[in-house]
Amino acid sequence: MDHFVIKDGIMHAEDVPLPAIAEAVGTPVYVYSRATLERHARVFREALDAVPEKLIAFAVKANPNLAVLRVLGAQGFGADVVSAGEMRRALKAGIEPEKIVFSGVGKTAVELEAALDSGIGQFNIESEEEGIELAALAVQRGIAASCALRVNPDVDAGTHDKISTGKADNKFGVPISEAERIFTALAKLEGMNLRGLAVHIGSQLADLAPLERAFGRLGTLIDTLRKQGHAITHVDLGGGLGVPYRKGEELPSPAEYGAMVAHVTRGWDAKLIFEPGRVIAGNAGVLLTRVVRVKRGISDPFVIVDAAMNDLARPALYGAWHDFEAVEPGTERMIANIVGPICETGDTFATGRECDALEAGALAVFRTAGAYGATMASSYNSRGFVAEVLVDGDRFAVVADRIDAGAIMDAERVPEWLD
Ligand SMILES: *Cc1c(COP(=O)(O)O)cnc(C)c1O
Repeated sequence: MDHFVIKDGIMHAEDVPLPAIAEAVGTPVYVYSRATLERHARVFREALDAVPEKLIAFAVKANPNLAVLRVLGAQGFGADVVSAGEMRRALKAGIEPEKIVFSGVGKTAVELEAALDSGIGQFNIESEEEGIELAALAVQRGIAASCALRVNPDVDAGTHDKISTGKADNKFGVPISEAERIFTALAKLEGMNLRGLAVHIGSQLADLAPLERAFGRLGTLIDTLRKQGHAITHVDLGGGLGVPYRKGEELPSPAEYGAMVAHVTRGWDAKLIFEPGRVIAGNAGVLLTRVVRVKRGISDPFVIVDAAMNDLARPALYGAWHDFEAVEPGTERMIANIVGPICETGDTFATGRECDALEAGALAVFRTAGAYGATMASSYNSRGFVAEVLVDGDRFAVVADRIDAGAIMDAERVPEWLD
């Protein structure tokens, strides 16, 4: 459920009519709903009521906006970060360091040092090499790094190849067949407080079975490691729960996910960490855009909007679907190709799509754009970076300025030897 609904013929975000935002901030612009973010946070938390000890760490990469992180931090969420930049954001948004988990296969020495110095709660180590490097850096500081070993459980998440992370040939984690040896080797190191395991098999999962299989394999590994005398006190189950991108699409609910987790992890006797991203933020945002013009085609017309693949990359990257709706729909419908202005055919949001009839100047939204939307934006074609707005009841605020080509050029230099 979200708070983007038609009232008196006009789409609102909570109590704010979207045309008011377009008027004040211009388009394209991402619009997030605080009430929806809070609702999703509550639903996810309540779904895990049966888990006695847990930390829910929002996957910052899904939506790193400081205001969004502030909203979720106030809900008790921590942060799952995959770079020093994301860690800085989480800290700046007021999330306590102990609630920050650092994942990622390519953490640099500089990033590891920054995280050690910030006192974050846990490193999810993705290789033996990384663990050795981290332990040495911790020793230099006279501390021990709290760590979980990320395991690649070799399950097919059944999602898009580019967002699948738990198959043996993916770059993430250590192979489950090697996990016991690597855990034992790393646990011996001074500077290393290896206390758990982590897993994350992919994103936009439409089926709970692969997750259940992965968690089951983790359970077996926990038993094996404990039998050898290792203390396993923390287990990170990652994120990955999918969201409906099409009206009417059915996906496993947080409640079903929570029930499965409670079942599989019964008796684990460890603190569980969750890293949801998309399921919290996806349907809490839309990308508001204006139709530049409608161009006749050989078959279907092209509805050319002022948003493009640089603002919302998912359709170009993964062939992803986003529902597309008029802000002030009439009764007419049309079949159209929805495209942006960028000079690439990949800049296509939808082909042969049935949608509300639209004319030049009309406003429309791409739904379910609150996760992996603005965060993936680029300035390709010198279009600048898209603005972001947060709505709260009948008020709204710009939470990220539009960064135009001028501001980007301010960071560029022409060396004098070119004169
Ligand atoms: C991307 C990612 C997540 C979040 O995935 P969602 O599908 O958005 O829930 C969680 N953990 C890790 C390690 C990730 O890379």
